[in-house]
Amino acid sequence: MNNRLPILFAVAALALFACAESHPDKPMNDNASSSSSASPQPDPRPTAGEPVQAKQVSSSGFDITPLPEPVVKELSKDLDPEELKVTCMAGTERAFTGKYWNLHDDGTYVCVVCGLPLFKSETKFESGSGWPSFYRPFDPAHVKTVEDRSLGMTRTEIRCTRCGGHLGHVFPDGPKPTGLRYCLNSAALNFIPEGKPIPPLKGTKHP
Ligand SMILES: [Zn+2]
Repeated sequence: MNNRLPILFAVAALALFACAESHPDKPMNDNASSSSSASPQPDPRPTAGEPVQAKQVSSSGFDITPLPEPVVKELSKDLDPEELKVTCMAGTERAFTGKYWNLHDDGTYVCVVCGLPLFKSETKFESGSGWPSFYRPFDPAHVKTVEDRSLGMTRTEIRCTRCGGHLGHVFPDGPKPTGLRYCLNSAALNFIPEGKPIPPLKGTKHP
């Protein structure tokens, strides 16, 4: 048993590094700007003490202002190796192994990294895929999409709007009324049962 520990530690360290290096608002295609690479580029990252961007609130009332990289990195320290692999390294858990693919309880699924509500049980359906599947997000502004050309195919990746954590993919073969199938990794989610309050968002100071 104990001989797995160094491997888990290595995965965690790698994932933390990946978290620090990736940011949801950075362009995914570095080749696109190769023609201007000769001229020096200003560092777009805010420095300490610099005012951060204006607060953005979703129509459902949640703060969806993108979290700064250092905050995401700090929050990621609380994740286990599987959660890190999925959210920070765009990993995929094995089908039928996650804790939520077969969960039928009423409640809300929030981001495992930052706590933003992402999906509700009433939009969960049996996809047969072995991953928790939903036909609509909690709030469309809480999930962002990114084109994913990995593994030799073009898919639409979904990420948490607030922390940029990888969640899964969305496919156009879902049920009515949207026709969409949001295919999630359980490891990217935390389930909050109906009747329990949604915990405060992480990474925000609550005086
Ligand atoms: Zn998040």
